Amino acid sequence: MINFNVPPCTGKELEYIAKAVKNQKICGDGEFTKKCDAWIEEKTGTKKSLLTTSCTHALELAALLADIKPGDEVIMPAYTFVSTADAFVLRGAVPVFVDIRPDTMNIDEKLIEAAVTEKTKCIAPVHYAGVSCEMDTIMDIAKRHNLAVIEDAAQGIMSTYKGKALGTFGDFGCFSFHETKNYSMGEGGALLIRDEKHIENAEIIREKGTNRSKYFRGQIDKYTWVNFGSSYLPSDMNAAYLYAQLEMAEEIAADRMASWNRYYEALTPLAEAGKIELPYVPADCEHNAHMFYIKTADLEERTRLITFLKENDILAVFHYIPLHTAPAGQKFGRFHGEDKYTTTESERLLRLPMYYGLKAEEVDYICNKVKEFYR
Ligand SMILES: *Cc1c(COP(=O)(O)O)cnc(C)c1O
Repeated sequence: MINFNVPPCTGKELEYIAKAVKNQKICGDGEFTKKCDAWIEEKTGTKKSLLTTSCTHALELAALLADIKPGDEVIMPAYTFVSTADAFVLRGAVPVFVDIRPDTMNIDEKLIEAAVTEKTKCIAPVHYAGVSCEMDTIMDIAKRHNLAVIEDAAQGIMSTYKGKALGTFGDFGCFSFHETKNYSMGEGGALLIRDEKHIENAEIIREKGTNRSKYFRGQIDKYTWVNFGSSYLPSDMNAAYLYAQLEMAEEIAADRMASWNRYYEALTPLAEAGKIELPYVPADCEHNAHMFYIKTADLEERTRLITFLKENDILAVFHYIPLHTAPAGQKFGRFHGEDKYTTTESERLLRLPMYYGLKAEEVDYICNKVKEFYR
């Protein structure tokens, strides 16, 4: 059986976890958390990275820092994971969904401005499959309407737009280190902060509303409750697992990219014959091979292909029931404009197995089975 995903493991994880235990610092912000944050800051150029318990929590933290209030509107795609919307719904805000572009599956930047109202407070672009949204256009709209930008870059670590790391354009960027992502700690994430002015408050909210981070740095001699907050910091044992992978980030990236390119090449004849569609990566975007997907003719064909692949020991999956069609999406949000592509394109998309360590022979086998299906 070829699994859809296998969590990344490079070999040093257990050694580093043992080190965290030996350090007698298994709670948050120990040696490995600091190493991961330093790595993210170095690699992306962000002012500040704060490791979190998940990308969901990084988004929640960002919504608190952006001061999202009840009744505020946040513009986002409906083709995304629930967390993009949850973070704002928890603050009483209204997700306003706009249609996606069929080529990248990202929010259609040309439709955003028409969805802006007096209540709009924020744009939350999602970089689907690690391929960037049109950030120049989005940042320009945000600037002219004085909106915050919170990037859901859960899938976008190591990807760039015009040479700049995803997660560093908006006021806040959110990474995921869930086991299904390119680099993992089981459950985890990071908040990237662009402007220095937010750093202190972010540290406080992440540490239960206290100034404990300052205390640990020796900047104050006792810590106390200074604001509202929650607990958004992961155990250093989890960070130890992640650090083993960040150290080998280039190797993991190259391995995934080799699989991605192999899929693309092998399936190009099928795309040229008009049977399927392949992912599109705009010239300004460098992606991270987070995902390899194809598009079938329609939902019915996709269902048959999934069954066929399963019969041949290949697990292929689809995702995202568009949020505006889900019960909570109908309750909390609204769709602005026409759903021209979100639903139809989501029904055609099929994700093929993609993980660090997927073998070339396995990619070949999968591609041959896809071709066999279309014969
Ligand atoms: C994975 C993912 C999330 C959630 O990440 P967690 O770390 O599991 O909370 C949010 N948004 C998108 C687009 C994702 O792919």
